[in-house]
Amino acid sequence: MSGAPADQGNGRFGAFGGRYVPETLVAALDELEAAWHDAQDDPNFRAELDACLRDFVGRPTAFTCVPRLSALAGGAMIWLKREDLAHTGAHKINNTVGQVLLAKRMGKKRIIAETGAGQHGVATATACARYGLACEVYMGAEDARRQSLNVFRMKLLGAEVHEVNSGSRTLKDATNEAMRDWMGSVGETHYILGSVVGPHPFPTIVRELQSVIGIECRAQCLDTIGRLPDLVVACVGGGSNAAGIFAPFIADEQVRLVGVEAGGHGEEPGGHAAPLSLGSPGILHGSLSYVLQDPEGQTSPVHSCSAGLDYPGVGPEHAHWKDSGRVTYETVDDREALEAFQTLSRLEGIIPALETAHAIAAAIRLAGQLSSDAHLVLNCSGRGDKDVQEAMRLLEAQDKDV
Ligand SMILES: *Cc1c(COP(=O)(O)O)cnc(C)c1O
Repeated sequence: MSGAPADQGNGRFGAFGGRYVPETLVAALDELEAAWHDAQDDPNFRAELDACLRDFVGRPTAFTCVPRLSALAGGAMIWLKREDLAHTGAHKINNTVGQVLLAKRMGKKRIIAETGAGQHGVATATACARYGLACEVYMGAEDARRQSLNVFRMKLLGAEVHEVNSGSRTLKDATNEAMRDWMGSVGETHYILGSVVGPHPFPTIVRELQSVIGIECRAQCLDTIGRLPDLVVACVGGGSNAAGIFAPFIADEQVRLVGVEAGGHGEEPGGHAAPLSLGSPGILHGSLSYVLQDPEGQTSPVHSCSAGLDYPGVGPEHAHWKDSGRVTYETVDDREALEAFQTLSRLEGIIPALETAHAIAAAIRLAGQLSSDAHLVLNCSGRGDKDVQEAMRLLEAQDKDV
């Protein structure tokens, strides 16, 4: 589909990836892998997905030159790939509509998902409503309280929301519950993972579904700039928007690729969410990748001002890209992200998601190191409407600090 190097057929990216799951899930993952290969070979599936991406999601998304931001950076010309303009305001919908169409093809009538901040839950509920599938979303009770608007959105879209009261009552507890549900319901249920994480074949499926970003972007660069860009930058939570824009450029060795993790408020354990920059290899949610963990292998707490980056693991293909040197990873802290959030709003009339703001801060830094005939592409993964209240709170707190 994307011309990107596929995994090696066994779900490994170098040493990373694989399947570390209970026996009961192996058959379900095999069935999913077979259905995915079958769908990819079927022109009808591709046609239905393309029609949905065009008519429902609003693709292709725009490719926007941002001269005022570029002038501030003082180097390369900066371009935005506008995933903020996709339906529901971020790239997550590319994955959920694809997996819902796949589930329909597999004859599954029920979809489950887990969500932290609620963005993946909303994107899943949206796709389920469109195609008439039952949707149940697991969410930690603490997250549900903090993100009550997204809980309401999911309910409005017809989904049932299960609040999880075990453990820390956040994302990892919701993931455990969703896994437990799936083990008992695989016959009629498909589990939609929201990023390029989890056991094989999820990292590959999600990358391929998100590769539409990079395929469009590569063509838009050739059309508008007349050549490939020098540098592509994207933020990395689980890693799906980054993998989606990077994959179609992986074979173009002259294009530098930079992923940006959440530096939070410092490098101490629990202060950030940067497993590639500050973590070590370990197993989380069914695959081997970089993980934030203590010396005993217990997953560490994480912090970021943006809920979508607040995850202790990262997709296994990013771990491979890091170790092979094809992609480099940097961190941007809360303060820098909040600054970039305001900068893009003021200079270009685009309020970005706080996740995206991490990539913007890095892009300003990186563009400044390039010459004025260079071109830098930034994946604008989402819009900031969901974050304005939190940004207001954080900015007021900063004012009190100084
Ligand atoms: C969820 C989210 C992210 C982080 O997820 P990835 O899988 O790393 O892309 C980034 N940006 C936005 C706008 C998001 O909603």
